[in-house]
Amino acid sequence: MIIGGGVIGCSIAYHLTKLGWRDVVLLERKQLTSGTTWHAAGLLTTLRDTETQTRLAKYTQDLYRRLEAETGQATGLIGCGSIQLAMTRDKAHEMRRGVRMAAAFGVESREITPAEVQSLWPLADVSDLAAAFHFPNDARVNPTDVTQALAKGARAGGARLYEHTNVTGIVTKDGAVTGVTTDAGVIRAEIVVNCAGMWARQVGRLAGVNVPLQAAEHYYLISEPIPEVHPLLPILRDPGNAAYIREEAGKIMVGLFESVAKPWGQAGIPEDFSFGDIPPDWDRMYPHIEKAMRRVPRLLETGIKLLFCGPESFTPDHNYLMGQAPNLRNFFVAAGFNSLGILSGGGVGFVMAHWIAEGKAPMDVWSVNLRRAHAWQDNDRYLNDRITEALGIGYQDHWPFRQWTSARDVKKSVLHDRVAAAGACFGESAGWERPNWYANPGHAPEYTYGWGRQNWFANNAAEHRAVRERVGLFEQSSFGKLYVQGRDAVHVLNRISTADVDVAVGRCVYTQFLNTTGGIEADLTVTRLAADHFLVVTAAFTLTHVEAWIRNHIPAEAFCVVTDMTGAYAMLNVQGPASRALLQSVSEDDFSPAAFGYGRARKVRIGYQTVLAVRLSYAGELGWELYVPTAFALPVYDVIVAAGAAHGLSHCGYHTLNSLRMEKAYRDWSHDVGPDDSPLEAGLGFTVAWDKPGGCVGLDALRAQRSDGLPRRRLVQFLLEDPEPLVHHNEPIYRDGALVGLVTSAMYGHTLGASVALGYVSHSDGVSDDYVLGGRYEVDLPDGRFAARPSLVPLYDPLGLKLRQ
Ligand SMILES: Cc1cc2nc3c(=O)[nH]c(=O)nc-3n(C[C@H](O)[C@H](O)[C@H](O)COP(=O)(O)OP(=O)(O)OC[C@H]3O[C@@H](n4cnc5c(N)ncnc54)[C@H](O)[C@@H]3O)c2cc1C
Repeated sequence: MIIGGGVIGCSIAYHLTKLGWRDVVLLERKQLTSGTTWHAAGLLTTLRDTETQTRLAKYTQDLYRRLEAETGQATGLIGCGSIQLAMTRDKAHEMRRGVRMAAAFGVESREITPAEVQSLWPLADVSDLAAAFHFPNDARVNPTDVTQALAKGARAGGARLYEHTNVTGIVTKDGAVTGVTTDAGVIRAEIVVNCAGMWARQVGRLAGVNVPLQAAEHYYLISEPIPEVHPLLPILRDPGNAAYIREEAGKIMVGLFESVAKPWGQAGIPEDFSFGDIPPDWDRMYPHIEKAMRRVPRLLETGIKLLFCGPESFTPDHNYLMGQAPNLRNFFVAAGFNSLGILSGGGVGFVMAHWIAEGKAPMDVWSVNLRRAHAWQDNDRYLNDRITEALGIGYQDHWPFRQWTSARDVKKSVLHDRVAAAGACFGESAGWERPNWYANPGHAPEYTYGWGRQNWFANNAAEHRAVRERVGLFEQSSFGKLYVQGRDAVHVLNRISTADVDVAVGRCVYTQFLNTTGGIEADLTVTRLAADHFLVVTAAFTLTHVEAWIRNHIPAEAFCVVTDMTGAYAMLNVQGPASRALLQSVSEDDFSPAAFGYGRARKVRIGYQTVLAVRLSYAGELGWELYVPTAFALPVYDVIVAAGAAHGLSHCGYHTLNSLRMEKAYRDWSHDVGPDDSPLEAGLGFTVAWDKPGGCVGLDALRAQRSDGLPRRRLVQFLLEDPEPLVHHNEPIYRDGALVGLVTSAMYGHTLGASVALGYVSHSDGVSDDYVLGGRYEVDLPDGRFAARPSLVPLYDPLGLKLRQ
């Protein structure tokens, strides 16, 4: 059962029938396309900000090209190509990175000169261009026709589409959806998919499912006719002017992505809204229009025939919301398309149909997964303020480490003011304000963004050295902390963990949770606090997903409860060779190697307080994570900082944790490992307890992979030979001149003295150690290809001696 007859609902119906599903019903409250779809500009531009979006856009383009021949319904596709313009060196750099990444997914492009832009678009002003890129296969479509073609294809495959049928309620039983209520009565359904566009948040609420999105005004204008324009003029994407420009029936269309947007419909979308538009706010938009028109100066002399404003839904991080609800079985969502719904629609339909049919997405789509959303985001003021910024973000610079500026300060650790006073520059993750780096006294803790070394590079180097040589203090209270308790807790956790977590009380285990195909759904630690009591610690942004994963694996008859304890504990992470001496100086408990070994957890007294100390490290050094009851956090922090002076303690931020873990090749879930990567490919086979009683979810798939011989891809650590360039994410990796993979994460390694990267090396005949180490590698950066040394053991402290001292 699909709710919503826009491009997304129709595409999912189409793709489900392609999988052989016949019992597919789509309900549309008014008419197909009457929400947002009908008035889209229909650009099919394939180079997107992220790998997932680019792959979905590429699939969509390929699908729409063949849809008319298949269904007999015209789609209005015009293969006009597109040109992306960069007005600054930074944007040129970003685009050069992007086209290299997109080429790995078959997106064809070529850097062209301003003169070539001029010859392709004679009316364009090219005097201010720093670079331009031509995408010959990009296209545009008529969104209504594409949607009708998908609907026709779906009907031909057996789906039934009902218009003028409003869904007014969601029926559930025992935590699963069982049907919907409509103005025509109740309809039973095994699976319900919420594709209700800007209504998806309120449809989600009918089911108690959080879909944090908000509609905003979204504009394009149409000029009076201009003789020279014709349908084959490429789409001009002009981020410097926050605009795109294309031909429209002998006129010019200019679409706008202004940097400060105006949310719409906060009090609810009007009930009768159908093929609707919004009266344009000329005063607000005029400066943006004028700026955009400068790209085609003729527009300044030509009248505007229409300034169109329609609502589109946007999400807090400018990524769509799709997938399975965390808290209601068989309820799916696909909404919040941030003005990319047409160009992603085909790919979204493909992914969702497989997800519904097979219980798992056919590719890693974490960046758009509904489960990255948090319950607190269902807040009108938060959405209103963030969406004001989100609309324009796609056309702005996507510098590494760029932070949102709106809707900040949602969550603060109790130590916030202390670390702020110590110079913290905060970044946001899952609403938490977290110290990313510390400014020197007298300097403002503010980012200066760019593609080269940013203003905090030296601070990161100093913090990094402090941890390697002395001791660093990380404020990590944002980490998700779940209690899993009850008589059956150990069985529940053991069933989903690769490692054996049935360990002695006081042991901490590093493990993955796998899906049925052996992909990594979570990468975390489990500490046994008592026979029937476990602490699961996971990164802040994964909390909803991990909590849902555990809950959804608790059998109905099991005695096991999961409680989110994140707010109850602060977390202070003390790392570095001097950490033992520092902690020993403030505690009467024994931190000696014999008394407190690696992977052990126990309560310790620090000052007047008692906290849980877990000896672990994501930095590759001797160190302890301290889980401090919130009321104790300030005094414990004060005691450690006061004593720390004698040990050379330095405050350290998340960028430093990242540079430290890169040198140790510690994996980061969602970057280096995810639902498509198995522990065997990721070099994490050591966590797998192959013979533990009962096995675990995904173990059969892993066994099959193991008996299959060598993995076809393996995660490898690389060190750039040149100490200068920075590597970030998604850069192509070449082995002996052939593309073998993309960088999954990277950071400058201040101990190793160059950029360190992780990335998969693929080879159809299998990837042996000899294959990895026998190649000559290069990482492809905008300034050229740079030689990189591969390693299958951590380049820093390969034997882990520092960790275990
Ligand atoms: C000015 C403008 C230009 C754009 N240009 C582009 C572009 O060039 N390229 C691009 O990719 N995207 C573009 N977009 C964005 C694109 O239009 C949307 O992302 C896309 O149409 C979203 O599709 P949808 O199916 O999610 O939503 P919708 O088209 O809104 O469909 C949702 C449907 O659900 C129905 N519904 C809601 N509640 C219920 C209920 N309770 N019961 C039954 N039915 C219900 C609604 O009536 C509606 O028809 C543009 C948007 C705007 C506003």
